Amino acid sequence: MFDNLSDKLDKALHILKGHGQITEVNVAETLKEVRRALVDADVNYKIAKDFTATVKEKALGQNVLKSLKPGQLMVKLVKDELTELMGGEVAGVNLSGNPSVVLMSGLQGSGKTTFSGKLANFLKNKKTKKPLLVACDVYRPAAIDQLHVVGEQISVEVFSDRGNNDPVAIAKAGVAHAKANGFNVVIIDTAGRLAVDEVMMTEIANIHKAVTPSETLFVVDSMTGQDAVNTAKAFNDVLNFDGVILTKLDGDTRGGAAISIKSVVNKPIKFIGTGEKMEAIDVFYPSRMADRILG
Ligand code: GDP
Repeated sequence: MFDNLSDKLDKALHILKGHGQITEVNVAETLKEVRRALVDADVNYKIAKDFTATVKEKALGQNVLKSLKPGQLMVKLVKDELTELMGGEVAGVNLSGNPSVVLMSGLQGSGKTTFSGKLANFLKNKKTKKPLLVACDVYRPAAIDQLHVVGEQISVEVFSDRGNNDPVAIAKAGVAHAKANGFNVVIIDTAGRLAVDEVMMTEIANIHKAVTPSETLFVVDSMTGQDAVNTAKAFNDVLNFDGVILTKLDGDTRGGAAISIKSVVNKPIKFIGTGEKMEAIDVFYPSRMADRILG
C-alpha cells in the first residue's frame, strides 16, 4: 500500500539523518522533498504546501536544529501531521434508531454493493446487529442480482422489488420490511453513475430525505486519485454525508485520496476496503495509516 509514497518520504527524511550538523537549509530541503512526494502521490498542491508549512513551523518551534536526534524528531512531526490530516481520531459509525438506516452513495463501480455486503457481514458478526440489505438500483437488473449473491454469501437477507422503478418507494418499503421482521440495521445500496450528474444526485437526495439515515456513507475508489476528492466534494455538497469509505486500497493506489479527502470535505474516512472478499474491510485508523506510510 502506497509503496511509492513511502519510499519517497523515507528518502526525503534520510536527508536529515545523513547530516551531522542540521541547518535550516537541510530542513527546507527535506520538506521540499516531502512536499514533492505528497504531490506525486496525488495530494493536491495546496494541501501539500500547507502540510509542509505546518511541519516546518512545528520543527522550528520544537527547535529541531538543536535536538539530539533531528532526523527522528522530523519523522515524528511528519507522522503526527499526517495523522492529523487524515482525521486524527478513529471515527465511529452512528447506528441510532431502530432500525438504524445506513445509506450508501457513490459512483458506479466505486464498490458500493461490495461494501454494503462487507458492512452487513461486519455488523452481523457483532451479534447484536441483524442487518437487512436493500437493493435500490432500479436501472441495472444485474446490480440487484449482485446484491443477492453477496447476501447469500454472508447469509444476510436482501430486500428487492424487481418490478418497481421508484428507488424512494423501495427504500421506504425496505425500512418497513425491517421494522416488521426484527432487523435492526438497514443498509441501502443505491444506483451510481459513471460520473456526477444531476439525475443521480436528485435521486440519492430524495432517498436520503425519505429514509433519514443515521449514517450516510460515501464510497469512493482510492485508485481514482484527485478525482476521488472532487467526487467526494460533489456528493458532500448534496448529501452532507457522515463518512467516507475508501475502497481498493489493496491495489496500486498512490494514496492521495486517503491523505487529503478529510481536509477537503471535513468528513472522516470510516472504513477501508482491501479486497473483493467480504472479509476485506478494515476500520480506518489515521495513526496506523500514517505508521504504514512512514514505515
Ligand atoms: P458499485 O457499482 O459501486 O456497486 O461497485 P461494486 O461493488 O460492484 O464494485 C466494483 C468492482 O470493484 C467489483 O469488481 C468489486 O469486486 C471490486 N471491488 C470493490 N471493493 C474492492 C476492494 O476493496 N478491493 C478490490 N480489489 N476490489 C474491490
